[in-house]
Amino acid sequence: MSLQFTLGKPEGPAPVSETHDVIVIGSGPAGYTAALYTSRAHLDTLVIAGEAVGGQVATTWEVDNYPGFPEGLTGPELVERLQKHSERFGARLEMDQVTNVDLSQHPFRLVGYARTYFARALIVAVGASPRKLDVPGERRLTGRGVSYCGTCDGWFFQDKQVAVIGGGDSALEEALFLTRFASKVTIIHRRDQLRAGPALQSRVERNGKIGYLWNTVVEEILGEKTVQSLCLRHVNTGEITEFPVDGVFVFIGHIPNTDIFQGQLDTDELGYIKTDQHRRTSVAGVWVAGEAGDPHYRQVITSAGMGAMAAIEAQRWLDSLGD
Ligand SMILES: Cc1cc2nc3c(=O)[nH]c(=O)nc-3n(C[C@H](O)[C@H](O)[C@H](O)COP(=O)(O)OP(=O)(O)OC[C@H]3O[C@@H](n4cnc5c(N)ncnc54)[C@H](O)[C@@H]3O)c2cc1C
Repeated sequence: MSLQFTLGKPEGPAPVSETHDVIVIGSGPAGYTAALYTSRAHLDTLVIAGEAVGGQVATTWEVDNYPGFPEGLTGPELVERLQKHSERFGARLEMDQVTNVDLSQHPFRLVGYARTYFARALIVAVGASPRKLDVPGERRLTGRGVSYCGTCDGWFFQDKQVAVIGGGDSALEEALFLTRFASKVTIIHRRDQLRAGPALQSRVERNGKIGYLWNTVVEEILGEKTVQSLCLRHVNTGEITEFPVDGVFVFIGHIPNTDIFQGQLDTDELGYIKTDQHRRTSVAGVWVAGEAGDPHYRQVITSAGMGAMAAIEAQRWLDSLGD
């Protein structure tokens, strides 16, 4: 289930808003948690939702590993709770997408499709997007057998057959993790050798549940309500085959949604915003929370935790500035 909406670009200059104590860019777990903390500290807090309201987790049918919900809950339910929790203390949600930022002036200036915003403190919680295969069936069956997170969704594939797409470290790590649940894991890779490190490769080779399809790419993901099979093409021979699976896990990289900060905040070579242990960025008054600055953990709980850290730091920094 997706809560995405499309934002049209209005004609003419964007109207200007007042200056907020804190603006949080992003309405995923990191953004809502940051907003909960800053609004509860009586800071005037605006959350700019972005096109994917609720973030990535809003697209999954069940979240089983968020503490405090022993029966699990759906992704949309979780983000609705996170939103309500932040609104309870006064945070306001704005349906807009930031297209441009100027962090060289203070208050910071953010330009969205709907209006221009000013923030005394800025929390960047724009997340990251798993790189997609971009094949027919992928979008429709996401959360219905197509997944980008083994830690999150592996449990739902007990005694099922799954495919893992990719040949790097994360593909192999996730393939190994998935063998805890699945009866068979097939790694489908477009080349004839893996990019993953040798130690990881030998662990995979020793695992009797894992098999390979080399030189093979996915052309289409098939299934009515859930994934039933993959249409595969051999890259050398061009041969097309149908491969039955219950789930497909895609690990061909992540792309942080940080384009608008290029040249303004220090990022690593992959585009993740550089941060210290206090979630500070290279610009004083700007913090990063969640996957936009985290290529490693990629969980709701870790992203939410970073949101709380960034918010506490922002509140202390604003206090230190005085009025
Ligand atoms: C299908 C799926 C299932 C998952 N299941 C689980 C699970 O069961 N358990 C678990 O712990 N984790 C799960 N994850 C991982 C989890 O969703 C992420 O770790 C988490 O959502 C990251 O939170 P975030 O707030 O950093 O970023 P995101 O959730 O990526 O949210 C980013 C937000 O930023 C906004 N944004 C981006 N650019 C802009 C902009 N320019 N202007 C304004 N807003 C912007 C977006 O609209 C979005 O609201 C799953 C991920 C996927 C894809």
